[in-house]
Amino acid sequence: MNVRRRLIPVVTTAAAAALGLTTLSACSSQSAAAAGTGTFDVVASFYPMAFLAEQIGGGHVHVTSLTQPGQEPHDLEISARQTAQLQESDAVLYLKNLQPSVDDAVAQSEVKTKIDAAALTSLEKHGNEVGGHAASHDSSQNEELAGLDPHIWLDPVRYAQVAEGVGKAFEKADPDHAADYKKNTAALVKKLDALDTQFKDGLANTKSKVFITTHAAFGYLAERYGLTEEAINGLDPESEPSAARVKDLETMARADGVTTVFYETLVSDKTAKTIASDAGLRTDVLDPVEGITAKSRGKDYFSVQEANLKALQTALGSK
Ligand SMILES: [Zn+2]
Repeated sequence: MNVRRRLIPVVTTAAAAALGLTTLSACSSQSAAAAGTGTFDVVASFYPMAFLAEQIGGGHVHVTSLTQPGQEPHDLEISARQTAQLQESDAVLYLKNLQPSVDDAVAQSEVKTKIDAAALTSLEKHGNEVGGHAASHDSSQNEELAGLDPHIWLDPVRYAQVAEGVGKAFEKADPDHAADYKKNTAALVKKLDALDTQFKDGLANTKSKVFITTHAAFGYLAERYGLTEEAINGLDPESEPSAARVKDLETMARADGVTTVFYETLVSDKTAKTIASDAGLRTDVLDPVEGITAKSRGKDYFSVQEANLKALQTALGSK
């Protein structure tokens, strides 16, 4: 039998799309750079994106956030004024699937540089329970975005991957300052690596591995450090738990030696406190860093994450 060679069609991938970088050829005549201010104007969708832009951009960028401090970012509706502001910026940094109105505004705008953080790392589907009990690892960038967990910034490793991509996008969009963007990105990634080590060491030996949160923001963090997150609500903090879910949580809390029910700074703590008092558990804050306010236990991403680590160590019984 003749073995005939088959021609395998070459699969071409749109590299730019894979990187999450969409560069339109049309010039944005209203951009600050074009207007000669010399500043690279970046619109960020919410705090973790603004923080990356500021850390990487340093003195060369002017960063505006579409989500105000203290505003809950999920499903935020942006105003006509903000849409206009977006249109006049040099770059937009956002996280697809967290804020549909931002996704729409970005898609419709002619901003020259569009950076989607979700395309710079890997996403997974997460339900109310993430971690040891029912591990689901259907990680893929090509899946439908629906059901994919957007909370990548709470995992220092994924956040560092996003930082690397943002750095490259800034270098490309504003080449005059490429050397500084490169240097700032490297410094930020180094700090995130150190934070990852702190979490790894700090959570290596704990009595319990299970923690209860208000909304399912800590799935990637839980998986990264071998913990199980049980969320009262789903990925969206506005959702309400069923009576059956509340009963399950109380049973599970007893079985797994859970000590603490965590609530957040930007959403109601009512359900968390009810469950805690019914099950005889403590409450404490675990901050999803979706915004920094006066109530935050830290002034920026790093200090809030360090406070989160301490809260987890206390709740899980760090040895
Ligand atoms: Zn969230």
